[in-house]
Amino acid sequence: MNLDQITQQYLELFPGDLSGNPMQRQTPKVVFSTAKIAHFENPELIISNEKLSEEIGLGKIEKQEDLDFLNAKYLPSNVKTYATAYAGHQFGNWAGQLGDGRAIFAGEIKNDQGLKSEIQWKGAGATPYSRHADGRGVLRSSVREYLMSEAMFHLGIPTTRALSLSFSGEQVVRDMLYDGNAAYEKGAVMTRTAPSFLRFGHFELLSAQGEIETLQQLTDFTIENYFPEIDSDSPNKYADFFKTVSEKTADMIVDWFRVGFVHGVMNTDNMSILGLTIDYGPFSFLDEYDLNFTPNTTDLPGRRYAFGNQAKIAQWNLWQLANALFSLIKDESILENILNDFNTNFWIKHDEMMAKKFGFDKLQEGDDEIFTSAQQVMQDLEIDYTLFFNKLETYSDDIDFKIHFKEVFYSRTTEEQFEKLKEFLTLYQNRLAKNSISKTDSLNLMKANNPKFIVRNYLLFECINELNEGKKDLLTKLLIALENPYEEIYPEFSVKRPNLYDGQTGCSTLSCSS
Ligand code: AMP
Ligand code: MG
Repeated sequence: MNLDQITQQYLELFPGDLSGNPMQRQTPKVVFSTAKIAHFENPELIISNEKLSEEIGLGKIEKQEDLDFLNAKYLPSNVKTYATAYAGHQFGNWAGQLGDGRAIFAGEIKNDQGLKSEIQWKGAGATPYSRHADGRGVLRSSVREYLMSEAMFHLGIPTTRALSLSFSGEQVVRDMLYDGNAAYEKGAVMTRTAPSFLRFGHFELLSAQGEIETLQQLTDFTIENYFPEIDSDSPNKYADFFKTVSEKTADMIVDWFRVGFVHGVMNTDNMSILGLTIDYGPFSFLDEYDLNFTPNTTDLPGRRYAFGNQAKIAQWNLWQLANALFSLIKDESILENILNDFNTNFWIKHDEMMAKKFGFDKLQEGDDEIFTSAQQVMQDLEIDYTLFFNKLETYSDDIDFKIHFKEVFYSRTTEEQFEKLKEFLTLYQNRLAKNSISKTDSLNLMKANNPKFIVRNYLLFECINELNEGKKDLLTKLLIALENPYEEIYPEFSVKRPNLYDGQTGCSTLSCSS
C-alpha cells in the first residue's frame, strides 16, 4: 500500500488541539484533536477490501506493514492521527459536544483521478471525545458495519466504505442490552473510508460555540472540496450549499425506502454532509413491511427513527443544520423555502422511485393510489418487502396468486386478506397494461431497482456467531452475495426470515451498544 502518500490536511488547515492529551474533555474552538491509536499487540485480519484499496489510491495490500497498518498495530512516520469534534441532536435533544469517540483518522489519500478519500480506524482507541467509553469496537458491531456498508455500496446507495476488519486481540466488556449483564466480547477494529466523514454535527458544534469564522472556513472548505457543482465565488454559495445537502439527503432517503433500509439512529451526528449512509449501528433491512418498525431498542418508546419516519426526521435534521448555517446565510426565508422544498422534492423522487420498483414507464395519474394500496396490503398481511417485489416480477394473472405469493407472509392470511391482495394485483395488472414501454423494458426496470439479495439481520447474526466460533464460511458467501445484490446467487438467501429469529435479540431487536 502507498502508506507514505497519506496526508493530513486538517492538521494544516484548521485550528486543532495538538497537545496529544488523551483525557476526555471539552475542546472548544477546535475542529480536531490529535489522538493515538492503540497499537494492538496481537491483532488478526479477518477481511480486507483490496478492490477499494486500489480504487482510492492506496494500492495493493501486500506487505506485513500494510496489514499491521490496517490492524492499528503500526503507523508509518508520515501518519499523524487525529479525531474530530462534532456535536449533535440525539433523539431530538441537543447533546452538545460528541466527536469521534471510537474513530481515529489516519488522514487522506488521493487516487490517480485526484479523488480524495479519508481513512479511519473504528475501534482503535479512546480519544478526547470518548465520553467515558473505551474507544474500542466489538466483533458484533464491526462485522455489521463492514458487511452492511459494502452491501449498500453494491446496491448503488451512497455510503461510507469498509476497507478492513480485524480481531483486535483484546476482550471488550459490553452491557449489550443495557440491563446490567455486562460480558466480555471479542474486540475488533475496522478501517473505513469516505470522501469526507463530515457530519451535520460538525457545523452544529461550531455554530453553538459561536466560532463563526471557523464555521465559515469549514463550510468554504467543504464546498471547495466536495461540492464542485457550487460556484465558490457566488454570493449565494452558502444557500446553494444548504440546498445541495438537502437534495443529496433526500436522494439518500429515497434509496433507503427503495431497499427497505432502516438506519435506526438518525441523530444529527450520524448525518453525513455528503448524503452518505454513515454510522451503521442498530440498523435493519425490513423483513415484513412495517412503516412503524424500528430495530433500535433505545428508540422503542417513541419510534422516532421508524422506517416510515425517516424522511420526516431527515427534514428535522436539516432544520438543525439550517440553524447552524444561519449565521452564514442570514436569511430565514431562504432556509425555510429549501426546507419546504425538501418535503415536496422528496415525495416526487419517492414516487418516481416506486414507479420503477413496480416497472412503470413513468408516473401516471392514479399511481399514488396503487402505491398506497400496495403499502396497505404489505403492512396488513405482514408481507416481506423484498420478496414481494421479486414475486411481482414473475406474476401474471393466469397463475394461482395464492401459490405464487405463499412464501412472502409472516403470519396466517385470512380469505378476506387474500381478497385484498387480489384486488391490489388486479389494479396493478391493469396499470401495467397502460405502460408505454415493452414488457421486457418494464421487467428490466424492476430487476434494476428491486434487490434479490439483502443482508438480513438474521444472516448477520448467524455470521457473527460463526466468526465467534472461528468459522468464516457464511462470511465468505455473504461477501459474494452482497457484491451482486440484483442477482440470485445463493437461492437459500432468497427466503424470508426464519421463524426461529422472530424477536431474537441482536437480530430483530438491537441496541446502540457497540
Ligand atoms: P453513535 O451512537 O455510534 O452514533 O455514537 C454516539 C457518540 O458516542 C459518538 O460521539 C461516538 O464516538 C461515541 N461512542 C460510541 N461508542 C463509543 C465507544 N465504544 N467508545 C468511545 N466513544 C463511543
Ligand atoms: Mg455516530
